[in-house]
Amino acid sequence: MTDMDVLIIGAGVAGLAAARELCAQGHNITILEARDRVGGRVLSVHESRLPVPAELGAEFVHGRPPEIWDLIRERALAACDVVGEHKAVRADISEPLEEVPIDPVFESMRRFTEPDRTFEAFLRECPCDEEAKTRAARFVEGFNAARKERISVQSLVQDDDAAAKIDGDRAFRILNGYDSVPKMLLPPEARMELGAAVREVRWRRGSVEAVTERGVFRAERAIITVPLGVLQAGAIRWTPEPRSVLTAACSLAMGDVFRITFLFRERFWEDDVDFSFLHSMNPNVPTWWSTLPVRAPMLTGWAAGPYFDRYLDRPAEESAARAQDVLARLLRMDAAEVRRQTVAWYFHDWHADPWSRGAYSYTPAGALPARAAMAAPVEDTLYFAGEATETEGHSGTVHGAIASGRRAARQMLRR
Ligand SMILES: Cc1cc2nc3c(=O)[nH]c(=O)nc-3n(C[C@H](O)[C@H](O)[C@H](O)COP(=O)(O)OP(=O)(O)OC[C@H]3O[C@@H](n4cnc5c(N)ncnc54)[C@H](O)[C@@H]3O)c2cc1C
Repeated sequence: MTDMDVLIIGAGVAGLAAARELCAQGHNITILEARDRVGGRVLSVHESRLPVPAELGAEFVHGRPPEIWDLIRERALAACDVVGEHKAVRADISEPLEEVPIDPVFESMRRFTEPDRTFEAFLRECPCDEEAKTRAARFVEGFNAARKERISVQSLVQDDDAAAKIDGDRAFRILNGYDSVPKMLLPPEARMELGAAVREVRWRRGSVEAVTERGVFRAERAIITVPLGVLQAGAIRWTPEPRSVLTAACSLAMGDVFRITFLFRERFWEDDVDFSFLHSMNPNVPTWWSTLPVRAPMLTGWAAGPYFDRYLDRPAEESAARAQDVLARLLRMDAAEVRRQTVAWYFHDWHADPWSRGAYSYTPAGALPARAAMAAPVEDTLYFAGEATETEGHSGTVHGAIASGRRAARQMLRR
């Protein structure tokens, strides 16, 4: 048994941000982390053969959220704007998709928020052009890793408004790797226990015991930042159950993503076509992006929401080969040539990962209040944080997760 002031469960950016805030106020913190590293769903691969780190989790800073930009400034990190052309193609690059603006669909969505409904139900009523609606659905599903027959229109409008306040249609990359952010957040004073998966939480007002294979840790209060998928899977036993939080967690949804980054011998596509993003109608891997403005021989494929289904429980080699076939079709090349060009590929199965059980959360229709219910302190003893508990329209992002960790720390400090 080890006694301390506050236990933090999970060393993703939410847990680390909470720790930083509490350590600054002189609290005695222990962080319990199941993995052998910090960062959670921020996972950058640094290898000497890689011109820039390969990001297996978060890659983009969406807009100018102060949670991240303050850190970028504090440590003078190198960040760059994501620039370059977005190309939309049908079957391959010789078949460009004609411009069909999808903004009118999102504008019309604002008239259909009461009562809340799914994006699919909204599309049935939306007066816009059918092609624009199909494209808008693909965008919503790809970006939010969500299903159109589940995701809430109210949540999409809230996210849109929140993004507008932080210049959210711009995107940036941190060149040294996104993992610079969790590294910066980690306060040196905090005690860190890696490889300490919490199996059970026993608690009453003013006292918490976390049971791990490395022992039992005890504190007056705890901030719990495990991902929504972990809470939903019942991977932690609660004595007693924090009912309001677990019920709210079950009404939200965890989205899935297949994401793969290839390192090639050269940028073999750039003479024919260069792009920052390639949006295709191919259902296997609809979206691809390059590292522009950095001209590295790397491309990333992305299949989210319903497009993830075909990767469920499939061997990584099979999925990688499927992605190479898609890329060959899109670039009008031989698949054998794409394979010859491939030096390595990088992939992490977030769905099978027991410490994430999915990529990031989204809000099903009618479930918007669930995020606030998860964020409400339980008996001034348990405080839940993590991207799924963010209530201002930034859930599913790194900056939203950081904000949630700070919010939980402040709730505790206000007591
Ligand atoms: C493929 C992918 C792409 C993404 N792209 C972007 C992007 O471009 N931009 C963006 O802003 N966001 C992106 N995100 C989302 C972003 O990564 C997350 O919202 C954010 O990192 C979540 O932080 P967190 O602290 O809430 O959770 P996590 O990072 O998941 O941290 C929770 C921690 O709890 C630990 N844990 C779990 N169970 C236990 C247990 N029982 N005991 C102890 N510890 C436990 C986990 O190991 C983990 O370290 C992406 C996510 C994925 C998966």
